[in-house]
Amino acid sequence: MEYVKDKAIILSTRDYGEADRLVAFLTQHHGKVIGIAKHARKSKRRFVNSLDIFNLVEIEYGERRLPGLVFIKKAILVESFSGLREDILKLSCAGLIAESIKETVPEREKQPEIFELLAGSLIEMEISKDPINVSCLSLWRLLSLLGLSPRLGTCLICKRKTSTHGMWNFDPHVGGTVCIEHRKKGRAMTILSKGIISLLERTRGTEIERLWRFKFRPDDKISVLQMLVDYIQCHIDRPLKSMYVLFQLGYNVNFRKTCEKVFNNKNSVLSC
Ligand SMILES: [Zn+2]
Repeated sequence: MEYVKDKAIILSTRDYGEADRLVAFLTQHHGKVIGIAKHARKSKRRFVNSLDIFNLVEIEYGERRLPGLVFIKKAILVESFSGLREDILKLSCAGLIAESIKETVPEREKQPEIFELLAGSLIEMEISKDPINVSCLSLWRLLSLLGLSPRLGTCLICKRKTSTHGMWNFDPHVGGTVCIEHRKKGRAMTILSKGIISLLERTRGTEIERLWRFKFRPDDKISVLQMLVDYIQCHIDRPLKSMYVLFQLGYNVNFRKTCEKVFNNKNSVLSC
């Protein structure tokens, strides 16, 4: 068995059988990988608290006979991002980012920029006073790195530029903006102002370390988060579980309304 050594961030982990753990992780140089850590719940020598979600680890794994799954030999904890684990909103927002990466990034494709984005997002989430803003910027950049950026430059139907008018509808089914005249009836859409669109476009090309300087207004960031989550859920064709946690938290009226729109509207992405 050939072994690979790499840095990795744990995206998800769950018990598997009586003593093992099934772990998804994003490596720095080998993309997203899913593997089995044999006897992980008993072996304190090979996995000393290292396989918890969000942990940055030095990992060593080898190919197993089962297709798709690797054998995780060892994982040494480098950084646990303990600062975000003490705040349930930060924890939930980090969970949304990790789940979005797990669901959208193909397995075994090198994604060093997405690894850098995830590490940068977790560092920023630890110190930020605005986890929702960090989530918006991180998910927006993730879609860009995956080549899945929503198209916000014009109405997708009549090609009118979004810079020429104040308010636009974002249609998650087609992944772009449409004007009021070309809004499809009965579809749940997010309203985006040209100010939001302009700010999102200005973040393009910004280095990760400087990305967090962009700030959405309180009402705007809820619209941006809803737009991004709607779009990702449409792309993967299922709900993001982390959104249920954020919904349960009900941190403020606007956010609760936003989540209700995502999960309760019959025409929302859950039915797409
Ligand atoms: Zn139009």
